[in-house]
Amino acid sequence: MVKYLRTIADFLFPPACPLCDTPVSVHGQLCAKCWGEINWIANPKCIKCGYPFPANIDLGQNPLCPVCAAGKCELDWIRSACVYDDASKNAVLPFKHAAKINYAKFMARAMINALQDLYIDADIIIPIPLANRRLFHRGYNQATLLARPIAKEFNLKLDLNSVVRKYRPDMGHKNARERAQNISGVFSIKNPSAIKGKRILLVDDVMTTGATFAEIRKVLLKAGATAVYGITFCRVVRAI
Ligand SMILES: [Zn+2]
Ligand SMILES: [Zn+2]
Repeated sequence: MVKYLRTIADFLFPPACPLCDTPVSVHGQLCAKCWGEINWIANPKCIKCGYPFPANIDLGQNPLCPVCAAGKCELDWIRSACVYDDASKNAVLPFKHAAKINYAKFMARAMINALQDLYIDADIIIPIPLANRRLFHRGYNQATLLARPIAKEFNLKLDLNSVVRKYRPDMGHKNARERAQNISGVFSIKNPSAIKGKRILLVDDVMTTGATFAEIRKVLLKAGATAVYGITFCRVVRAI
């Protein structure tokens, strides 16, 4: 019956690439052209922060980037599905600012793929919260839309209430130090008993400098979290 209804739905609303409307075989899937334009992160990559290394260098079994080798990774590990560039921006900006919430399906699927080579021992999943004022204005938290299918896939409890965020004006194009200062003190824990003793997987759409992750991790560890991991759809990749 479900299959029958799906056939009718597909007839009425044929599956199309969310980015360019080209017909595709499955709802929510990207067409081959759009898929091919995105710079997906593959091996070799840093085992802690997922920083992509050039494909032609052999770094052995457990490569570490210089930042993580110096013990400066923002989280216990971080992964991102793709590089933040013009192609991924084309998906992320409308998803975040123009209510293109139907993008969540392919973005979350790509994030699930990026987690496949890890053993996921997280207890709960927390999307990076928005300040209430921003949530009210935007109508949705894009990180929550990504976290839902990931929580379902890995059978993790989705926690939307334990961490709250104060409103701060937009960070814009600030440098790493200014971003860290701007984010300092914005997160607080509303429900410490939900955090204590837990391993937490954080979800966000983009990782820019990692300042947001570093700040929220500090607050979570103070509340007794035992590990903090992260997954984003895309990340800024600078030469290191
Ligand atoms: Zn397309
Ligand atoms: Zn690294």
